[in-house]
Amino acid sequence: MSELICQRILLKLSGEALMGSGDFGIDPDVIARVAGEVKELSEAGVQVGMVIGGGNIFRGAGLAQGGIDRVTGDHMGMLATVMNSLAMADALQRIGVPTRVMSALAMPDVCEGFTARQARACLAAGEVVILAAGTGNPYFTTDSAASLRAIEIKADLMIKATKVNGVYSADPVKVADAEFYPVLSYDRALAENLQVMDATAIVLCRDNGMPLRIMNVNEHGALMRLMRGEAIGSLVESGE
Ligand code: UDP
Repeated sequence: MSELICQRILLKLSGEALMGSGDFGIDPDVIARVAGEVKELSEAGVQVGMVIGGGNIFRGAGLAQGGIDRVTGDHMGMLATVMNSLAMADALQRIGVPTRVMSALAMPDVCEGFTARQARACLAAGEVVILAAGTGNPYFTTDSAASLRAIEIKADLMIKATKVNGVYSADPVKVADAEFYPVLSYDRALAENLQVMDATAIVLCRDNGMPLRIMNVNEHGALMRLMRGEAIGSLVESGE
């Protein structure tokens, strides 16, 4: 068996990735499939931290457009990430993967609170750790939370699993000849405003030397192939 390229990863899934073909909520088949892929990684010896978005349920900015106070809306968005995290933890536990949820917002009856030290200890012991409630602060995204947690748990790589194959010069769904970038720098992603992540999330990775891989969540088996050294998706790192 080939060697693994990472010992510890932070996997970021958007809430939308859990919707499948629906337009709201969680598709049980999608969550079960992702859980199966995470199980494969975990059983191969990869330590997996996860951050899951909440956009399939609520986003603060969208709620604010409808008149809800932005801070309240962001709290609702963060609670949505907790719901998704609980669903993913349940899917993993049902297939025998030791998993725990740690939240940035205190809710002791639901899950434990996040500390980097405890998260690292659980990962080292082979548990999947799902880091819920974003950063715990309004006006941030779960992409920024994922960058922050990747750094805090000392991941070797942050993986953002999206609906496209990686980073392109333009939206490949709309622009037929959009150029695919297998490797690019954080600065290029920022300067060209490429749809990688929001600027806060990219800068956190850049300033802390956290390599970032953007790949398609719907490509079955791709996570494991990536861990075995295959160049999947786009890599964002320092340099040109
Ligand atoms: N959110 C927040 N602070 C954070 C992370 C998330 O306030 O640190 C809120 C924000 O309202 C956001 C929502 O939670 O819109 C859901 O997260 P996000 O939009 O990042 O989810 P995704 O797009 O990944 O599904």
